[in-house]
Amino acid sequence: MADDCIFCRILAGEIPSAKVYEDDQLFAFRDINPQAPTHVLIIPREHIPSLNDLEGRHADLLGRIVLAAKEIAAQEGLADGWRFVFNCGPAAGQEVYHIHAHLLGGRPMTWPPG
Ligand code: 5GP
Ligand code: ZN
Repeated sequence: MADDCIFCRILAGEIPSAKVYEDDQLFAFRDINPQAPTHVLIIPREHIPSLNDLEGRHADLLGRIVLAAKEIAAQEGLADGWRFVFNCGPAAGQEVYHIHAHLLGGRPMTWPPG
């Protein structure tokens, strides 16, 4: 855990969150500022700052994140489609430096994203 990381503090229960899924490696909760009717953040329990910090040993973890997204999308009734986004670095708009996947759905999505 990184003491100054807001998502580590959510994992520790120090900051409340609306949980939608958890397992031994992952935690998922609703974004506090939702950009779609469903906006869930999926995070690993391990503090990894960004995609640029991933190593080969994280391959299984990343696969688990994608599979969790599929399960959550089904739970949320997103049969029409959903978007799955990682922001990496300042130019991509990453604000929280604890890897998180955004699962968005429940409205039409445009392309390209902003
Ligand atoms: P980023 O821009 O880093 O990809 O996304 C960070 C996301 O975390 C944003 O969508 C923001 O609304 C969300 N967020 C930031 N702080 C909190 C918080 O304390 N609780 C929850 N649930 N979401 C947060
Ligand atoms: Zn963290």
